[in-house]
Parts: sequence; C-alpha cells; structure tokens
Amino acid sequence: MMRQTISVKSRLNTELIDITGEVREAVKKSGLKEGVCHLFVPHTTAGIAINEGADPSVKRDILTSLNRLVPFDGDYQHAEGNSAAHIKSTLVGTSAVCLIEDSQLVLGTWQSIFFCEFDGPRTRRVYIATI
Ligand code: ZN
Repeated sequence: MMRQTISVKSRLNTELIDITGEVREAVKKSGLKEGVCHLFVPHTTAGIAINEGADPSVKRDILTSLNRLVPFDGDYQHAEGNSAAHIKSTLVGTSAVCLIEDSQLVLGTWQSIFFCEFDGPRTRRVYIATI
C-alpha cells in the first residue's frame, strides 16, 4: 500500500471542490496498474463525494439541498457552533473507493470526485491509499 496526502484549500464556508485531477495524479504516481484507490478525509466537518462534475448546477443543487436539510442554525448543543457541518460530514461520509485499471482511475463518464467543505475556509487534507 502507498499512502499519499493532498492538500485542499477551501475558500467558502460550504463548497464542493473537484479534486479528480489531483487523485488521478496520485494514482499515476503510485505506479499501480490494477487495484483500488481509497480516499479518506481526516476531518469531522468535511467529507468526500463522487457525483456529476460536468454540470456545475448539480454541485449547487447538492449544497442547497444539504443546507436546507441541515440548517446552520438549529436546536444544537455543540458549543463550537458548527453542528451543521458535523452533521453534513456524517451524511456525506468521509471516504470513497475507486477502482484502478490499466493504471487509470475508473470513473463513470460524468463522475468527478469532490472534497466537501462544510466549515471553511480552511486548509484540509485528503489521504489517498492505493492498494
Ligand atoms: Zn465542532
């Protein structure tokens, strides 16, 4: 197994950042021909999602819906004031798995890999394990 770390700088409080290019680069660097690429976000207020990257309105609709589902202000007890971000992170999840074939990341035609920021702006990390 090879583990790499990529750094992601978010600019907004809540946003989806396309990291497909960086992940493809990491897979290339691993030299692995066939295997699995495991992505892990070591944060409690961020996540990772694979979804449509071609039409930016999909990204917008996902964020708008998550914000509607989990409002920033609510009956939360967590004193840090970012409960909505913790809940969104839990809903979206902090890991994803992709296949590697012929040294390439296998994704559907319209799929992109998104780092999901829910409590930015911050500098974040994504661990990429190629196995
Ligand atoms: Zn918190």
